[in-house]
Amino acid sequence: MTDRRLRIAVQKSGRLADRSGELISGAGLRILKGANELLYRIENQPIDLLRVRDDDIPTFVADGVAELGIVGYNVLAEHFPDRDLEEMIVQRLGFGSCTLKVAVPNDVDYTGPQWLEGKRIATSYPNILGKWLKDNGVTAEIVEMRGAVEVAPRMKIAHAICDLVSTGATLEANGMKATDLVLKSEAVLIKAPHAPPSELAHTYDMLLRRFDGVTASTG
Ligand code: ATP
Ligand code: ZN
Repeated sequence: MTDRRLRIAVQKSGRLADRSGELISGAGLRILKGANELLYRIENQPIDLLRVRDDDIPTFVADGVAELGIVGYNVLAEHFPDRDLEEMIVQRLGFGSCTLKVAVPNDVDYTGPQWLEGKRIATSYPNILGKWLKDNGVTAEIVEMRGAVEVAPRMKIAHAICDLVSTGATLEANGMKATDLVLKSEAVLIKAPHAPPSELAHTYDMLLRRFDGVTASTG
Protein backbone atom coordinates (compact mmCIF):
# COMPACT_ATOMS: atom_id res chain seq x y z
CA MET A 1 0.00 0.00 0.00
CA THR A 2 1.05 3.52 -0.59
CA ASP A 3 -0.51 6.83 0.33
CA ARG A 4 0.98 8.57 -2.69
CA ARG A 5 -1.72 10.67 -4.35
CA LEU A 6 -1.95 12.50 -7.64
CA ARG A 7 -2.02 16.26 -7.48
CA ILE A 8 -3.92 18.68 -9.69
CA ALA A 9 -2.89 22.33 -9.34
CA VAL A 10 -5.88 24.67 -9.63
CA GLN A 11 -6.48 28.36 -9.07
CA LYS A 12 -7.63 28.83 -5.49
CA SER A 13 -9.93 31.75 -6.26
CA GLY A 14 -10.43 33.95 -9.29
CA ARG A 15 -11.75 33.74 -12.80
CA LEU A 16 -10.78 30.12 -13.41
CA ALA A 17 -11.63 28.70 -10.00
CA ASP A 18 -15.34 27.89 -10.49
CA ARG A 19 -15.01 26.34 -13.91
CA SER A 20 -11.97 24.33 -12.82
CA GLY A 21 -14.04 22.97 -9.93
CA GLU A 22 -16.89 22.12 -12.31
CA LEU A 23 -14.53 20.23 -14.60
CA ILE A 24 -13.22 18.24 -11.66
CA SER A 25 -16.69 17.49 -10.31
CA GLY A 26 -17.85 16.70 -13.84
CA ALA A 27 -15.11 14.06 -14.01
CA GLY A 28 -16.76 12.37 -11.03
CA LEU A 29 -14.30 13.52 -8.38
CA ARG A 30 -15.86 14.33 -5.03
CA ILE A 31 -14.08 17.30 -3.53
CA LEU A 32 -13.67 17.21 0.24
CA LYS A 33 -13.15 20.72 1.51
CA GLY A 34 -10.77 20.29 4.39
CA ALA A 35 -9.28 22.53 7.04
CA ASN A 36 -6.20 22.75 4.84
CA GLU A 37 -7.04 25.48 2.34
CA LEU A 38 -3.98 24.67 0.22
CA LEU A 39 -4.82 21.01 -0.28
CA TYR A 40 -8.31 19.62 -0.80
CA ARG A 41 -8.73 15.85 -0.90
CA ILE A 42 -10.72 13.95 -3.44
CA GLU A 43 -12.83 11.57 -1.43
CA ASN A 44 -13.27 8.80 -3.98
CA GLN A 45 -9.87 8.78 -5.75
CA PRO A 46 -6.21 9.00 -4.69
CA ILE A 47 -6.07 12.62 -5.83
CA ASP A 48 -5.52 15.96 -4.09
CA LEU A 49 -6.19 19.46 -5.37
CA LEU A 50 -3.33 21.87 -4.85
CA ARG A 51 -5.07 25.26 -4.58
CA VAL A 52 -2.70 28.10 -5.43
CA ARG A 53 -2.40 31.39 -7.30
CA ASP A 54 -2.60 30.87 -11.03
CA ASP A 55 0.90 32.32 -11.46
CA ASP A 56 2.36 29.42 -9.48
CA ILE A 57 0.69 26.69 -11.53
CA PRO A 58 3.12 26.49 -14.50
CA THR A 59 6.14 26.09 -12.21
CA PHE A 60 4.48 23.55 -9.92
CA VAL A 61 3.51 21.39 -12.87
CA ALA A 62 6.81 21.78 -14.74
CA ASP A 63 8.66 20.78 -11.56
CA GLY A 64 6.39 17.81 -10.98
CA VAL A 65 5.02 19.13 -7.68
CA ALA A 66 1.63 18.51 -9.30
CA GLU A 67 1.09 15.97 -12.09
CA LEU A 68 -1.60 18.12 -13.73
CA GLY A 69 -2.70 21.73 -13.65
CA ILE A 70 -5.42 24.01 -14.98
CA VAL A 71 -4.20 27.45 -16.03
CA GLY A 72 -4.73 30.19 -18.60
CA TYR A 73 -2.69 29.77 -21.78
CA ASN A 74 -1.62 33.41 -21.28
CA VAL A 75 -0.02 32.62 -17.92
CA LEU A 76 1.70 29.53 -19.32
CA ALA A 77 3.06 31.38 -22.34
CA GLU A 78 4.36 34.22 -20.18
CA HIS A 79 6.10 31.80 -17.82
CA PHE A 80 7.78 29.68 -20.44
CA PRO A 81 8.46 31.94 -23.41
CA ASP A 82 11.09 29.58 -24.81
CA ARG A 83 9.41 26.22 -24.32
CA ASP A 84 7.39 24.11 -26.67
CA LEU A 85 4.08 24.57 -24.86
CA GLU A 86 2.33 21.92 -26.89
CA GLU A 87 4.44 19.32 -25.08
CA MET A 88 2.96 20.49 -21.80
CA ILE A 89 -0.64 20.98 -22.91
CA VAL A 90 -2.92 17.96 -22.63
CA GLN A 91 -6.03 19.71 -23.87
CA ARG A 92 -7.72 23.05 -24.31
CA LEU A 93 -10.63 23.41 -21.92
CA GLY A 94 -13.01 25.79 -23.67
CA PHE A 95 -13.45 28.23 -20.78
CA GLY A 96 -11.59 31.27 -19.46
CA SER A 97 -11.39 32.71 -22.95
CA CYS A 98 -9.80 36.12 -23.27
CA THR A 99 -7.46 38.04 -25.53
CA LEU A 100 -4.27 39.92 -24.87
CA LYS A 101 -4.46 43.14 -26.83
CA VAL A 102 -2.63 46.37 -27.35
CA ALA A 103 -4.72 49.37 -26.31
CA VAL A 104 -4.15 53.09 -26.73
CA PRO A 105 -5.94 56.26 -25.57
CA ASN A 106 -9.06 57.01 -27.63
CA ASP A 107 -7.55 60.09 -29.27
CA VAL A 108 -4.61 58.19 -30.75
CA ASP A 109 -4.65 57.62 -34.48
CA TYR A 110 -3.28 54.08 -34.29
CA THR A 111 -1.88 53.00 -37.61
CA GLY A 112 -0.56 49.56 -36.66
CA PRO A 113 2.33 48.10 -34.65
CA GLN A 114 4.73 50.69 -36.10
CA TRP A 115 2.92 53.36 -34.09
CA LEU A 116 4.51 51.77 -31.01
CA GLU A 117 8.07 52.37 -32.23
CA GLY A 118 10.09 54.12 -29.51
CA LYS A 119 7.06 54.29 -27.19
CA ARG A 120 6.53 52.96 -23.67
CA ILE A 121 4.03 50.11 -23.23
CA ALA A 122 2.77 48.99 -19.82
CA THR A 123 1.92 45.30 -19.36
CA SER A 124 1.90 42.35 -16.98
CA TYR A 125 3.04 40.19 -19.91
CA PRO A 126 6.55 41.43 -20.78
CA ASN A 127 7.68 38.16 -22.37
CA ILE A 128 4.67 37.71 -24.64
CA LEU A 129 4.67 41.38 -25.59
CA GLY A 130 8.43 41.38 -26.17
CA LYS A 131 8.11 38.50 -28.62
CA TRP A 132 5.20 40.11 -30.44
CA LEU A 133 7.09 43.40 -30.79
CA LYS A 134 10.10 41.54 -32.13
CA ASP A 135 7.95 39.61 -34.61
CA ASN A 136 6.57 42.93 -35.80
CA GLY A 137 9.98 44.58 -36.05
CA VAL A 138 9.13 47.17 -33.41
CA THR A 139 11.50 48.46 -30.74
CA ALA A 140 9.66 49.82 -27.72
CA GLU A 141 10.18 50.09 -24.00
CA ILE A 142 8.20 47.63 -21.90
CA VAL A 143 7.07 48.86 -18.49
CA GLU A 144 6.19 45.88 -16.33
CA MET A 145 3.23 46.35 -14.00
CA ARG A 146 1.59 43.76 -11.77
CA GLY A 147 -1.88 45.28 -11.87
CA ALA A 148 -3.90 48.38 -12.79
CA VAL A 149 -2.17 48.44 -16.16
CA GLU A 150 -5.12 50.34 -17.65
CA VAL A 151 -4.31 53.48 -15.68
CA ALA A 152 -0.73 53.74 -17.00
CA PRO A 153 -1.41 56.08 -19.95
CA ARG A 154 -3.48 58.46 -17.83
CA MET A 155 -0.69 58.54 -15.27
CA LYS A 156 1.80 59.21 -18.08
CA ILE A 157 3.68 56.06 -17.19
CA ALA A 158 3.20 54.68 -20.69
CA HIS A 159 1.84 55.59 -24.13
CA ALA A 160 0.02 52.31 -24.61
CA ILE A 161 -0.79 49.14 -22.75
CA CYS A 162 -0.95 45.44 -23.51
CA ASP A 163 -3.56 43.76 -21.35
CA LEU A 164 -6.20 41.06 -21.17
CA VAL A 165 -9.49 42.12 -22.67
CA SER A 166 -12.79 40.31 -22.65
CA THR A 167 -15.62 42.84 -23.01
CA GLY A 168 -13.59 46.02 -23.41
CA ALA A 169 -15.56 47.70 -20.59
CA THR A 170 -12.44 48.33 -18.48
CA LEU A 171 -10.69 49.96 -21.43
CA GLU A 172 -13.69 52.11 -22.19
CA ALA A 173 -13.94 53.23 -18.58
CA ASN A 174 -10.32 54.34 -18.84
CA GLY A 175 -10.67 56.21 -22.12
CA MET A 176 -8.89 53.62 -24.23
CA LYS A 177 -9.56 51.43 -27.24
CA ALA A 178 -8.20 48.01 -28.12
CA THR A 179 -6.09 47.70 -31.26
CA ASP A 180 -3.86 44.75 -32.20
CA LEU A 181 -4.45 41.20 -31.00
CA VAL A 182 -1.30 39.84 -29.36
CA LEU A 183 -2.50 36.49 -28.01
CA LYS A 184 -5.71 34.47 -27.82
CA SER A 185 -6.12 32.51 -24.63
CA GLU A 186 -8.30 29.97 -22.87
CA ALA A 187 -7.80 27.65 -19.92
CA VAL A 188 -5.62 24.63 -20.66
CA LEU A 189 -4.92 21.36 -18.89
CA ILE A 190 -1.17 20.91 -18.52
CA LYS A 191 0.93 17.94 -17.44
CA ALA A 192 4.28 17.41 -15.73
CA PRO A 193 7.17 16.26 -17.94
CA HIS A 194 7.50 12.88 -16.20
CA ALA A 195 4.98 10.04 -16.13
CA PRO A 196 3.07 9.66 -12.86
CA PRO A 197 4.23 7.01 -10.34
CA SER A 198 3.30 3.58 -11.71
CA GLU A 199 0.84 2.81 -8.90
CA LEU A 200 -1.11 5.92 -9.96
CA ALA A 201 -0.91 5.41 -13.72
CA HIS A 202 -4.37 3.88 -13.82
CA THR A 203 -5.93 6.83 -11.93
CA TYR A 204 -4.05 9.27 -14.15
CA ASP A 205 -5.25 7.67 -17.39
CA MET A 206 -8.80 7.49 -16.11
CA LEU A 207 -8.67 11.15 -15.17
CA LEU A 208 -7.46 12.26 -18.59
CA ARG A 209 -10.19 10.22 -20.30
CA ARG A 210 -12.85 11.74 -18.08
CA PHE A 211 -11.61 15.32 -18.53
CA ASP A 212 -11.66 14.73 -22.25
CA GLY A 213 -15.23 13.45 -21.99
CA VAL A 214 -16.42 16.40 -19.92
CA THR A 215 -14.83 18.94 -22.27
CA ALA A 216 -16.26 17.21 -25.35
CA SER A 217 -19.78 17.21 -23.87
CA THR A 218 -19.74 20.84 -22.74
CA GLY A 219 -18.19 22.04 -25.99
P1 ATP B 1 -4.51 34.90 -8.81
O1 ATP B 1 -4.99 35.44 -7.52
O2 ATP B 1 -4.74 33.41 -8.91
O3 ATP B 1 -3.12 35.31 -9.18
P2 ATP B 1 -5.32 36.65 -11.01
O4 ATP B 1 -5.88 37.91 -10.45
O5 ATP B 1 -3.94 36.63 -11.56
O6 ATP B 1 -5.52 35.50 -9.91
P3 ATP B 1 -7.76 36.23 -12.55
O7 ATP B 1 -8.19 37.62 -12.74
O8 ATP B 1 -8.55 35.34 -11.63
O9 ATP B 1 -6.21 36.11 -12.20
O10 ATP B 1 -7.71 35.57 -14.00
C1 ATP B 1 -7.27 34.25 -14.17
C2 ATP B 1 -7.25 33.93 -15.65
O11 ATP B 1 -8.56 34.05 -16.19
C3 ATP B 1 -6.42 34.86 -16.53
O12 ATP B 1 -5.03 34.59 -16.47
C4 ATP B 1 -7.02 34.55 -17.90
O13 ATP B 1 -6.45 33.35 -18.41
C5 ATP B 1 -8.48 34.28 -17.59
N1 ATP B 1 -9.39 35.39 -17.98
C6 ATP B 1 -10.56 35.24 -18.63
N2 ATP B 1 -11.17 36.41 -18.85
C7 ATP B 1 -10.40 37.35 -18.33
C8 ATP B 1 -10.49 38.78 -18.25
N3 ATP B 1 -11.50 39.45 -18.75
N4 ATP B 1 -9.50 39.42 -17.61
C9 ATP B 1 -8.49 38.76 -17.06
N5 ATP B 1 -8.35 37.40 -17.14
C10 ATP B 1 -9.28 36.71 -17.77
ZN1 ZN C 1 -2.37 35.63 -11.05
